[in-house]
Amino acid sequence: MTVPFLDLKAINAQYRDELVAAATRVIDSGWYIQGNEVKVFEEEFADYCGIKHCIGVANGLDALTLTLRAWKEMGKLKEGDEVIVPANTYIASILAITENRLKPVLVEPDEATFNLCPEKTAAAITPNTKAIVAVHLYGQISPMPELMQLADEHGLLVLEDAAQAHGASIEGRKAGSWGHAAGFSFYPGKNLGALGDAGAVTTDDEELSKIIRALGNYGSHKKYENLYQGVNSRLDEIQAAMLRVKLLHLDDEIESRRNVAEYYLAHIDNPKIQLPAVGNRESHVWHLFVVRSTMRDKLQQHLAEQGVQTLIHYPLPPHQQQAYKPFSEISLPLTEEIHRSVLSLPMGPHLTPEQVSQVIEAVNRV
Ligand SMILES: *Cc1c(COP(=O)(O)O)cnc(C)c1O
Repeated sequence: MTVPFLDLKAINAQYRDELVAAATRVIDSGWYIQGNEVKVFEEEFADYCGIKHCIGVANGLDALTLTLRAWKEMGKLKEGDEVIVPANTYIASILAITENRLKPVLVEPDEATFNLCPEKTAAAITPNTKAIVAVHLYGQISPMPELMQLADEHGLLVLEDAAQAHGASIEGRKAGSWGHAAGFSFYPGKNLGALGDAGAVTTDDEELSKIIRALGNYGSHKKYENLYQGVNSRLDEIQAAMLRVKLLHLDDEIESRRNVAEYYLAHIDNPKIQLPAVGNRESHVWHLFVVRSTMRDKLQQHLAEQGVQTLIHYPLPPHQQQAYKPFSEISLPLTEEIHRSVLSLPMGPHLTPEQVSQVIEAVNRV
C-alpha cells in the first residue's frame, strides 16, 4: 500500500456536502466577484488570526507583492531599499521583493528551525535596511517577539510570509498578527487550502489595508476612480465560500497534523536521520514534516521502494536558480547544505494510523 504524500481529494471529500452547498449558494446568488462571501470570509479570517483587517487577493505571491507595493505608495519604502529575507525560503518570498525593485538581502536561517533568527538578522542590518520578510517555513512560526523588538529598534517594517503557517502561534498570538502586515496563501495544498488559487493580507493598519484593496482592484478605491496604477488581484466569491467551509475545520486538521508529527517524533529513531526541532506545540502547524539526512537521495529512493511518497522542499535555493543569476556568486553554505539534505515525509490530516506506522517502519529500516 502506498502512503500518499498528500491527498487533497480525500481531505476535501470529508467536507463534500458543505462545499457543494457553499458553491451552490454562490452559483445561485448571481454575484461572483467582490460580494458577500469575500466580505464575510475576510471578517472570519481576521477574527481567526486576531487582527483587524483582512484583504482577500488572488494568491499568496500577490499578498506579499501588493503589501510591499503599498508601503512604496505610502512612502515607507523606495526602490533599492534592502529587505532581509531568509535565504532558504520558497522563491515567492523573494519574487515579491524583486518585483518591487527592492533589494533582497539573503540571510542564513537558524539551522534548527529553518527560520530567521534574531542574531543573524541583526548582523545583516545596514543603514539601507528598511524591512524584514519573516517566513514561517514548513508551518513553524518565526521568533516574532525578538524579531519585532529588533525591527522596533531599527525602525524596520516586518512582513510575515505566513503562507505555510495558518494558525501557528507564540504567546497565544497567531501568525499573521505579529508583523506590520502578513501575506497568506490558500493554494489548495496549503494547510488552509481553497479549490484553486487564493490569498490574503492581514494587518492592523487601516490605511495600508485600503491601499492594498485599491491596488488589487486596478488601483481603484471607488468605481471608475483610480488612485494608483494597480493590478487585478481579487479573491473570487466561490473560493471565499470554499475557504469559509475549510476554515471551520482548520483547527481540527492542525490537531491531526500535530498528532502525526508527535508520532513521528516519538518513534523515528534512525541515527542517520535528523528530526525537526520544535519549540512548543502551538508554534508549529506542520505544513511539512521535514527531516534531514546526509544520504537524502538514497533515503528517498528507499522510501519510494517501500511505498512511501516523499518530496523535497526545496531542491535548489533561490540564489542558485536561473531566475536569480546575479546572486549565483553569493555563498550561503548552510542554506546550500539544507537544500542538499532535507526530505519531507507524508504529512496531513489524510493519514491513517496504519500509514503513519508504515512511514515510521520504513524510515527506521533504512
Ligand atoms: C505557497 C507560498 C507562497 C506563494 O503562495 P501562492 O498562493 O502559491 O502564490 C509564498 N510563500 C511561501 C513560503 C509559500 O509556501
